[in-house]
Amino acid sequence: MTSRGPREEEAAPLFRALFQAAADPILVVDGEGRIVLANDAFRQLLGYAPAELVGRPVEDLVPARFAGHAGQRAEYAADPRPRPMGMGLEIFARHADGREIPVDIALTPLVVGGERWSAATLRDLRGRGQGLDALRIQATALRSAANGIVITDRTGTITWVNPAACAITGYPAEELVGQHTRILKSGEHEPAFYAELWATVTRGETWSGTIVNRRKDGTHYHEEQTIAPVVDEAGEVSHFIAIKQDVSARRRNEEALAAAHAELAARVAEIESLNRQLREQTIRDPLTGLYNRRYFDEAVTRDAARAARSGEPLALAALDLDEFKKINDLHGHAAGDLVLRALARVLLEGLRVSDLVCRTGGEEFVAVLPGMPIEQALARAEEWRGRFAARTVETAGGVALRCTVSVGVACHRPGTETVHEALRRADAALYEAKRRGRNRVISAEP
Ligand code: GH3
Ligand code: MG
Ligand code: MG
Repeated sequence: MTSRGPREEEAAPLFRALFQAAADPILVVDGEGRIVLANDAFRQLLGYAPAELVGRPVEDLVPARFAGHAGQRAEYAADPRPRPMGMGLEIFARHADGREIPVDIALTPLVVGGERWSAATLRDLRGRGQGLDALRIQATALRSAANGIVITDRTGTITWVNPAACAITGYPAEELVGQHTRILKSGEHEPAFYAELWATVTRGETWSGTIVNRRKDGTHYHEEQTIAPVVDEAGEVSHFIAIKQDVSARRRNEEALAAAHAELAARVAEIESLNRQLREQTIRDPLTGLYNRRYFDEAVTRDAARAARSGEPLALAALDLDEFKKINDLHGHAAGDLVLRALARVLLEGLRVSDLVCRTGGEEFVAVLPGMPIEQALARAEEWRGRFAARTVETAGGVALRCTVSVGVACHRPGTETVHEALRRADAALYEAKRRGRNRVISAEP
């Protein structure tokens, strides 16, 4: 089967029909800018009746604000290559009722009878208008965002920045666009840091982190960044979008807070140490350094309970200086104090960790000896008595004093008496020692 083209006499009506029926609006304009032909789609797009358009100047279809149209048309006619009109601009056609309709226009030169005409094919963009509006809104949002936004090409060269990015970095937009992002490098990160960042984003993944960057004035600042790669249809990274937030102020606050915390912790430690000292002061006798009555009452009950549980013996020794009043009277109170301290030293010598020695009154002392049966406690008391009797105490006036001590010893009998009752028995034994002539140890036990 062979096909054939239309015969000469069939061609003209065929082309006319084709022109009228074309889905895209088409307009033909002569060298003077007068409309020669407009198809149905064109008339319908701009709201004109048949024959209303032919002969009119094409500028009737251009919104008045595009005042340069006639001049541009002349320029176009001087270099008549087929091309889209107004590359990168938004173009509008004026409807018969005055409305503006967004359109794309493709211009094609035609030479007719030696004259340069042109054909314009329009595309109604109103269907895409929403998309354009959305883009416009998004572009406005990016421009006015509080976060700094920096767009770079795939090599890291900056192609767009918003005002917030300028405010953060201190550079005007024209000094950033065209520069590599390394213009912001502070030098505070190791090369490995940047290598990891680039490896992440060139893989097509988003990177987030805090970067120390340098402002135009040379000062450093901390910025939180999220860098998202833009991947094209071929799956290649074409751009990077970095969203930045200057967190220097926040970091300064955090550092100040940490310092305040550290200071507070130091204060608390100081207060705790003071508390410990205070507690020591409340349980210690300042003259001898021995525990005081208050601590004795607390500790002896605990020791007695522990001994009762374990079945171990608990011995108590009550001590009182002999004729101490005489020492005070003859040599003065200060000399008496030295004697009290001398006895304390004797009691502390050879003390086991479990033993407790207290100055319970003016010149009265008590020793608590857990785990000691009566014989052993008596031996220990005898040792104290002997050592103290042998000791001389030199007064500030150079007098060598001697003093003795009497001791009563009892063993607590758990279940039949309280530990304070046992102490009263030790006291009774002590006074028995006084009665029998002092400087001796008496047992309260049978
Ligand atoms: P006794 O042998 O019977 O115990 O006779 P004493 O003189 O020791 O009599 P007593 O126990 O009644 O006397 C206690 C004296 O201890 C009275 C007081 O002046 C003295 N004294 C009490 N506390 C202190 C003190 O902290 N320092 C000094 N230097 N003397 C004190
Ligand atoms: Mg006394
Ligand atoms: Mg006494």
